[in-house]
Amino acid sequence: MRLIDGRAIAAAIAQDVTAAVTGLTAAGVTPTLAVLLPTADEASAWYVRSIERVAGKVGIRCQVDQLENPSRETIIERLDALSADPGVHGIICQTPLPPGVRLDDVSAHIDAGKDVDGSNSVSLGRLAAGLPTYPPATAAAVLEILHHEQVPLVGARAVVVGRSTVVGKPAALLLLDQHATVTVCHSRTGRLADVCAEADVLVAAVGHAHLIGQQHIKPGAVVIDVGTNPTPDGGLTGDVGPYAAGHAGLVTPVPGGVGPVTTMLLMRHTARAAASG
Ligand code: NAP
Repeated sequence: MRLIDGRAIAAAIAQDVTAAVTGLTAAGVTPTLAVLLPTADEASAWYVRSIERVAGKVGIRCQVDQLENPSRETIIERLDALSADPGVHGIICQTPLPPGVRLDDVSAHIDAGKDVDGSNSVSLGRLAAGLPTYPPATAAAVLEILHHEQVPLVGARAVVVGRSTVVGKPAALLLLDQHATVTVCHSRTGRLADVCAEADVLVAAVGHAHLIGQQHIKPGAVVIDVGTNPTPDGGLTGDVGPYAAGHAGLVTPVPGGVGPVTTMLLMRHTARAAASG
C-alpha cells in the first residue's frame, strides 16, 4: 500500500496557478475570490482561513464576507452584488447556511462564470451534459488525484459511496466522463461491502468515520477517501478505517489527501475565471 501525498499534488498545481496569476496581474487583472461566510461555525471559519492562506500563496486576492445569521434575502442580495462586480472573478457560498436556507436555492444567484465551486444548478447541469464548466472542487480533486497518479480509468470499475450534489454525484459524472463504469452507493444500498469490493477505484464520500472496512476493498484497489470526520482530540479522520487502508494499493490519507487538492483547485478555477474575463 502507498499513501498518496495530496499536499505534494497541490504544490505542483500551485506552480501553474501562480504562473497564470502572475501573468494576469502583470496584465492588470488581480484574480479575486469572494467567499460568503453566512455562519459563525468554527469549522467553516477554519476552512475559510485555509482558503485565504492558500489564495495568498498563489497571489489570488481573497475577500471574505462574514454575515451573522443572515436571511435568505440578504444572502441572495450579496451573491447578486458579487456576481455583478467586475472585480470579482470567483464566488463561494460557504455552508452551513442558516436554518431553512438551501444552497441549491441561493447558489442560483452565483453567476455561472464565477461559480468556481460548481454549486449552482447551471454548473451541475453543464457537468451532467458534458459541457465545459467548473465542477465542484472536491469532486474535481478526486479526478485530479487519479490523473496525477496515472490510474487507468477507461473501462475501470469505479464505485462512489455518497450521492450528494457537492461530492458524490459530480465525482460519479466526472468518472463516467473518463469512461469508467460507475456505480453510486448511498444509505439505502444493499450489500455495500460486496458492491465496493468490485471496485478498481473506490471513492468514499460519506462522512461516517471508518465506515469502509477491509471487506469493502478489493486488494490493490485505488481508494480516495473524501470523508473528513472530527476526532475527539480535535483532529480529522476519514471514512476508511486505518486497517482497511492497508488492503488498498493506493490510498489518500485524511488529512493530507483530498483536502489540499480541493483548495488548490478552487484557486485554479478562480485564475481561469479571471482569465476568461
Ligand atoms: P452528505 O451530503 O451528508 O452526503 C453523504 C452521503 O453518504 C449521502 O449520499 C448518504 O446517502 C451517504 N451515506 C450515509 N450513510 C451511508 C451508509 N451507511 N452507507 C452508504 N452511504 C451512506 O455529505 P457530503 O457533503 O457529500 O460530504 C461527505 C464527506 O466528505 C463528509 O465527511 C465531508 O466532510 C467530506 N468533504 C470533504 C471535502 C474535502 O475537501 N476533503 C469537501 C467536501 C466534503 P443518502 O443520500 O441516502 O442519505
